[in-house]
Amino acid sequence: MEVLELDAGDGVLAFSTMRGIIQDEGGSNPYAGFNVCHYTGDDTGHVADCRRELACRIGVPVCNLIIPRQTHSSNVAVVGDIVPCVEDTDALVTCRDDVALVVNTADCLPIVFNDSRHGVIGVAHGGWRGLYDGIIPATVEAMTELGAAAADIRVAIGPCICGGCYEVSEEFAGRFAERFGADVCAVDAASGKPHVDLRRVAVGQIECCGVGRGRIFVADACSRCDERLFSARRMGVGSGRIATVIKKI
Ligand SMILES: [Zn+2]
Repeated sequence: MEVLELDAGDGVLAFSTMRGIIQDEGGSNPYAGFNVCHYTGDDTGHVADCRRELACRIGVPVCNLIIPRQTHSSNVAVVGDIVPCVEDTDALVTCRDDVALVVNTADCLPIVFNDSRHGVIGVAHGGWRGLYDGIIPATVEAMTELGAAAADIRVAIGPCICGGCYEVSEEFAGRFAERFGADVCAVDAASGKPHVDLRRVAVGQIECCGVGRGRIFVADACSRCDERLFSARRMGVGSGRIATVIKKI
């Protein structure tokens, strides 16, 4: 499998998966390539094969891959000695070193968090709705409840849709400008249409939580621009997903 490493600091393994070698005659299968997401229409056998491959790469049993069913909520699950229900969940936090936290995205922002000093990690799925509703502060708060300190957290944002690809309505841009500041929006010179930069929204929110800008890594890759990545805008929502993983080592 091919991965894009994320710089989330010491003591963790953190990466996002690429589609990889695509065995797809004619290029018409939107699930071809590496996909561990179980609820966007892929064949369950293919998802199970990919999960075994992922677990093997990380060095955990498949049952220690914690993969929530995401719903664009702001719900954070704490993975303690017992793994909680991860239905209707968009972020995970843990102190455990034997589980891998995973989110699935295709244009939304996959975000990993690591406080190596206090041994607390997290992962969040930040779509526009989750970012607007506060999934980032909810995740940082859940980490601090486990003993993390915001100033010690490092954050990495994985491949997601870039501002140039994220065309939105005037009304949407207005709501985001009002909540997050005018500089998260821009008007495309060619089309005259508004765009929102969700990475900028996320970085601003992470800083508001008390994480310094120097501790935030942002991957360059855009899911919509780069055909090696799954993209809901390019391929439709019935498609595979980028898996983003963090695990303590
Ligand atoms: Zn792009």
